Amino acid sequence: MKDGIVESYTSLDNSISIDVAIIGAGMSGALTAYYLRNSGFSLAVFDRRHVGMGSTAASTAFLQYEIDTPLTKLSSYVGPVNAVRCYKACRSAIYDIESICKKLKPSFDFHIRPSLHYASFKKDKNDLFTEYTLRRDHGFKVDWLESGDVEKMFRLDAPAAILSADGGEVDAYLLTHALFKAVRAKGHHIFSNTNITDITHHKHGVTLTTAAGLNIKAKKLVIACGYESQKCIPKQIAQVNSTYALVSESVQEDLLWHKNSLMWETATPYMYFRIVSKNRILLGGKDDFFHNARIRDARIKRKTEMLLHSFSQKMKQIPLKADFSWAGAFAVTKDGLPYIGAIPERPHTYFALGYGGNGITFSVIAAEIIRDLLLKKKNNKVHLFDFNR
Ligand SMILES: Cc1cc2nc3c(=O)[nH]c(=O)nc-3n(C[C@H](O)[C@H](O)[C@H](O)COP(=O)(O)OP(=O)(O)OC[C@H]3O[C@@H](n4cnc5c(N)ncnc54)[C@H](O)[C@@H]3O)c2cc1C
Repeated sequence: MKDGIVESYTSLDNSISIDVAIIGAGMSGALTAYYLRNSGFSLAVFDRRHVGMGSTAASTAFLQYEIDTPLTKLSSYVGPVNAVRCYKACRSAIYDIESICKKLKPSFDFHIRPSLHYASFKKDKNDLFTEYTLRRDHGFKVDWLESGDVEKMFRLDAPAAILSADGGEVDAYLLTHALFKAVRAKGHHIFSNTNITDITHHKHGVTLTTAAGLNIKAKKLVIACGYESQKCIPKQIAQVNSTYALVSESVQEDLLWHKNSLMWETATPYMYFRIVSKNRILLGGKDDFFHNARIRDARIKRKTEMLLHSFSQKMKQIPLKADFSWAGAFAVTKDGLPYIGAIPERPHTYFALGYGGNGITFSVIAAEIIRDLLLKKKNNKVHLFDFNR
């Protein structure tokens, strides 16, 4: 809302043939196209909305390697070795975004931020400590804070917390536009208002059909349609939930906390907050475990009150007034990891599904893996996120 439609791309108006078609012009499609922009493949990206107007526009854009499933729990799903490798892949993704932002012309605003994961209740402290020791033992830069330290550094009322050095923040919507600008500068095509209604698979590629009846022939296809990708996959791989967010009016600078850290808690669903421009607080959470846009949107007012109330319980010194509130859909998987790669039912096709609360770091990993699969390069992360894990 703040930035409006940054750049408007035209819709497709004639049938075309290209090497790689990407459906979805959100963060995942943008990063995949960016990673492929110098690959030698001709690319075209299609979106039925405007660029970045899916989940990407709703994103609160916390960049954290700590995915929604704690390392301790993820180890029980995928084994301790793979769990640590997933966490490390997410941590690298934060720094990959930083380096992409530096390379963009003009360079794009990105900040490394510490991330504070605080215990919501006393009963959470032991599990949080186990999580801390596991991460510390695997080389993550983490500190354990007792209640008094949390109070002193963050003015937050919590029994204990893990302070991680490696987090980041970015404007997801503007970054998506900046990436597409760089992709277009290399001669590739981006089409908005172009709804792909059918995909046919052939021996040597795919044909996409648009709602306007045009055909797109491509040797390879990348599906980056966010939670809407589910309809292209024969089995149910994720549940779509609703989530709520608000941005506050500006608050007094001297009331803010240690190094503009990203803040989140152990409760499920969790509340999270960070400081954005002009000392506003971006606050989110109070998820519902269903997805019905009409019911969800009718709850925004109530959820805003609930978020403000929960925030005031924790950060008593900051009087918060909501300036703008919204809701969005996000998909969650059983283990909290994204699905990236191919399925036998859809030949010549790769999925970039950045599901979960850390979708943006997953989008980076998806872009890197899909580039390597298309270029037939070895990538040792493939099996961590594939559909058969
Ligand atoms: C409120 C909220 C807060 C979030 N906070 C965070 C956060 O703090 N940190 C984080 O890392 N992640 C967060 N996420 C998740 C993150 O925003 C998403 O994972 C990410 O934006 C997904 O990007 P995407 O490109 O995969 O999907 P999307 O942005 O949804 O893009 C998919 C695109 O595909 C298009 N499309 C779908 N079907 C078709 C079709 N048939 N033809 C043509 N186009 C089609 C859609 O129009 C859409 O633009 C949040 C999400 C929400 C909703």
